[in-house]
Amino acid sequence: MLDTKENQQQIQILQTDLLKWFEKAQRNLPFRQTKNPYFIWISEIMAQQTQIDTLIPFYNRFIANFPTVFSLALASEDEVIKAWEGLGYYSRARNLHQAARIIVADYGGLMPDRYTELIKLPGIGPYTGGAIASIAFNEPVSAVDGNVLRVISRYCNSFDDIGEAKTKKRMTGWIESILPEAAGNFNEAVMELGALICTPQSPKCLLCPIRNGCQSDAAGTTEQLPVKAKKQKQTTKRMEVGIVKQNGRLFFVRRPDTGLLSGMWSFTIAETMVGNGQDIKKKLGEYFPELNEPIFIGTSRHVFSHIIWEMSVYGFNLDSMVGETAAHPYLVANQQEARSDRETAFKALSQVDDMALPVAFSKLLAQLTDF
Ligand code: SF4
Repeated sequence: MLDTKENQQQIQILQTDLLKWFEKAQRNLPFRQTKNPYFIWISEIMAQQTQIDTLIPFYNRFIANFPTVFSLALASEDEVIKAWEGLGYYSRARNLHQAARIIVADYGGLMPDRYTELIKLPGIGPYTGGAIASIAFNEPVSAVDGNVLRVISRYCNSFDDIGEAKTKKRMTGWIESILPEAAGNFNEAVMELGALICTPQSPKCLLCPIRNGCQSDAAGTTEQLPVKAKKQKQTTKRMEVGIVKQNGRLFFVRRPDTGLLSGMWSFTIAETMVGNGQDIKKKLGEYFPELNEPIFIGTSRHVFSHIIWEMSVYGFNLDSMVGETAAHPYLVANQQEARSDRETAFKALSQVDDMALPVAFSKLLAQLTDF
């Protein structure tokens, strides 16, 4: 890493050139027009797994629904999840909601203005805490994400693995040691440089405002950096999805509070090795002890971050169970309770829009033909 004491002049040039470039080149984003910590918080949480350009309509919709921390705290979890729909990684929305309630209860509705307080809130880690504290309150703390690690690796020609905690810690310390007075602007400038110029592939070094001091550019090693251990491989799971219909309504189950798609509504699903509908029929037996044979509807595929679901979709039409429906204690439209501990509901298609339904299933609904 570049020694900050020995290279003070170079560091000063880096700060000035980067800040000047940022003033002119930064993208015109809705959350850049404000120092409101609530807006910055929402945008930073959304940006954790979503490209900035993609998240703008989601950000605008979320802020329109919940313009203040109070409105977010007062909303129900379903309303918050619904407003988050399409962004994935729903634990982010749940953490936002919980943190908003804590801010209202413990801080009178005002976002804490210190990094050390911010990182106590659910879902706010060192990066987000640093971004809010430096951008909204100009506290001299760093905000180091993947973009920033890439820029530092290349600028300092560092071959240390940025996936390792010790590398991240060292780079965080280094950037903190070179923060100018305008700490928030500087943090944003490094992030913006990483997003627009020092990109993962084909960095635009000829346009780079800090090229003069860049050690990997001088050494011709830019394309080899940053060093990052291979990503965890995606695993593919074969799933059966059961769509149960009665009186024009579909049967949904609330997912558990932890794990994939936690807390969201879902069709009933079962992992399978065979894929002939019997695994999902057995799973649905928790709610409906008597069922007709499954009707194959079609297949679908959904990619999560580390898992791919290859789904075979089966329909179960309770209306066709002549003579049994009325007598059966579980086959009741609008049922809210079943044998399982999980919350369940029958919903008409017109009601589904108001439910927090994962994209994997809303895609299915859009393709659903009658059965
Ligand atoms: S010169 Fe190239 S590698 Fe160096 S910081 Fe700029 S864009 Fe990145």
